[in-house]
Amino acid sequence: MKRNVTILGATGSIGLNTLDVIRRHPDRFRVHALTASTSVDSMASLCREFRPRYAVMADQKGAEALFSQLADLPLTQVLVGEDSLCRVASDRECDTVMAAIVGAAGLVPTLSAVRSGKRVLLANKEALVMSGQLFMDAVAESGAELLPIDSEHNAIFQCMPADRIRNTLAAGITRILLTASGGPFRTFSADSLRSVKPEEACAHPNWSMGQKISVDSATLMNKGLELIEACWLFNVSPDFVEVHVHPESIIHSMVEYADGSVLAQLGSPDMRTPIANGLAWPERIDAGVAPLDLFQIGKFHFERPDLQRFPCLRLAAEAFQRGGTTPAVLNAANEEAVAAFLDGKLCFADIAVIIEQTLDRVATVAADSFDTIFEKDAEARLVAREQMSLASAGGVS
Ligand code: NAD
Ligand code: MG
Repeated sequence: MKRNVTILGATGSIGLNTLDVIRRHPDRFRVHALTASTSVDSMASLCREFRPRYAVMADQKGAEALFSQLADLPLTQVLVGEDSLCRVASDRECDTVMAAIVGAAGLVPTLSAVRSGKRVLLANKEALVMSGQLFMDAVAESGAELLPIDSEHNAIFQCMPADRIRNTLAAGITRILLTASGGPFRTFSADSLRSVKPEEACAHPNWSMGQKISVDSATLMNKGLELIEACWLFNVSPDFVEVHVHPESIIHSMVEYADGSVLAQLGSPDMRTPIANGLAWPERIDAGVAPLDLFQIGKFHFERPDLQRFPCLRLAAEAFQRGGTTPAVLNAANEEAVAAFLDGKLCFADIAVIIEQTLDRVATVAADSFDTIFEKDAEARLVAREQMSLASAGGVS
């Protein structure tokens, strides 16, 4: 039986890589729905190629433009807005959902897929960071099959016994070694970090990704979000996870066992590997990824992360320890600060400053409902913006 796949965020880096894997296996997968924010032309050409049952745009203007471009394609219904995202993520005919919207905007539709018990391929780490326990409770209640797509978490998943990924003690696991490339500014001095430009931050040395996650990789916030993601996915505490900077990005993470064994998953830095792993799991399929040439790579290096130059990793670890709604506040403040940096309105080094100030100003409460999480997300965005206007008026370091 073919898998019927909805791709939330189809026009992004993960979405297009997912479609590339699907394109190679027409016998295994068919596309049920594609969704995008504003990229009408890209959606139109994807719809022509993959003929989904539904195409969802974020707003009315985009939906109307797509509708007129697809006038000769009556089998693809064009829908609009968050309710429609939830509908195509939970439809009965769909069994697999790639959650690849970037940021907090992905939480509601991803949750909709989870609650309807789908195989959920989780790229949208922000959704899990924001709502941790509630998200994992929803997975447990619905029986959804949650498979990690983030390359590190997919690597860890591959290095664990499949039936014990949330019971590391029983599996004899003693440590998770989460690898990080270190980003484009790994060797930059604290001083030179003040003047780096958005184009430099988005030019990742090993991975080609969307803008937001590229900046997160440059600040190491991405590793902070991934630390939190690992704690929820594998039911461990942060001191069980040790970040190893590995600039070659060939080892995608490792798992240490009580007998001294360390299992690693290696591969070229290409997201089609974890995507294919999730789509076909537990089978293995061709992902179009070039074979690894270890003779050419020659050497692997490892260093500890520098929390002085890259405080975002520390802020994320502290936010997780503080618990409750704090990770949602961290995430919202980060999204606002990164957007301002990309817009040329905030200097790179001040991303961490704004996040820390927001964390200091927004009170932590118990994350006992999704409504509470959304309220704190909104409050944190307001506070972060306030801090940034103060900064541009000369009030922040
Ligand atoms: P991207 O910016 O390239 O794509 C984002 C997609 O989400 C686009 O299709 C866009 O149209 C859609 N989108 C954006 N805002 C939206 C909104 N408000 N409503 C509806 N749709 C919206 O991002 P990406 O790099 O593909 O990353 C997607 C997610 O996957 C992120 O959470 C990221 O952290 C995670 N991830 C990405 C990579 C990677 O290699 N790119 C690796 C690991 C994890
Ligand atoms: Mg990752």
